Amino acid sequence: MAAIELDPKRDALLLDLDGTLVDIAPTPDAVKTPAGLVADLTRVRRRLGGALAVVSGRPISVIDDLLRPFRAVAAGIHGAELRATEDGPVKRLHVVRPSDEVHRRLSALGRMPGVVVEDKGPAVAIHFRRNPAAAQEIAEAIRSILHDHPAEGLSALPGKAVIEVKPVSVNKGAAVNAIMEHPPFAGRRPIYIGDDVTDEAAFAVVSRVAGRGYAVGEPRLGAARGFADPSQVRAWLHDLPKSLGTAA
Ligand SMILES: [Mg+2]
Repeated sequence: MAAIELDPKRDALLLDLDGTLVDIAPTPDAVKTPAGLVADLTRVRRRLGGALAVVSGRPISVIDDLLRPFRAVAAGIHGAELRATEDGPVKRLHVVRPSDEVHRRLSALGRMPGVVVEDKGPAVAIHFRRNPAAAQEIAEAIRSILHDHPAEGLSALPGKAVIEVKPVSVNKGAAVNAIMEHPPFAGRRPIYIGDDVTDEAAFAVVSRVAGRGYAVGEPRLGAARGFADPSQVRAWLHDLPKSLGTAA
């Protein structure tokens, strides 16, 4: 595990969820929130003066379900949703959702064995953790769909046993920028922790504003090696309030 120093007065912590805070499960619905995580997030957020946010490909409603009763400042669906304050409303960016025809063709991929299509509105995720052999066929089908609909401004983003189809303008880098505009984040340096290709847009943004990015698991473009797996991230969060000293 990397030695990550945090300045509780000057830094903000932005955390991916799946594969970073919680372990990836065979299907997205099967993810379990480990005991103690919510209490540790609550303590760390307090110590950072509230400057802790979750940045995920999941809808914010699902982030809330997984972290209940913790309500995070959050970007959901890679930034297509934003809740800029803990108690504030979820705002949806005016992104164009994929057309019905694209939705229909992507949904049809769910007929393949072991393939789950998650329709998030602005983004559609095709999960194949239970049928890894389907990866290439799915990638080719998506390429063909995007090729047939160039005017929709969609991109395919590969992740861990998942490919997400989403508007090009929606990405975690834009999500980080949006969060950092609001107090108590504004003026702080973003420290971003994530595990996936989708987090690389966030790593690029934080390094441009004197922040730092840390990868979980495999090396990631723009990030330092941080943690071997989510359990290391959770252990670090658990110990963090101690290392941040007694200052409020
Ligand atoms: Mg992740």
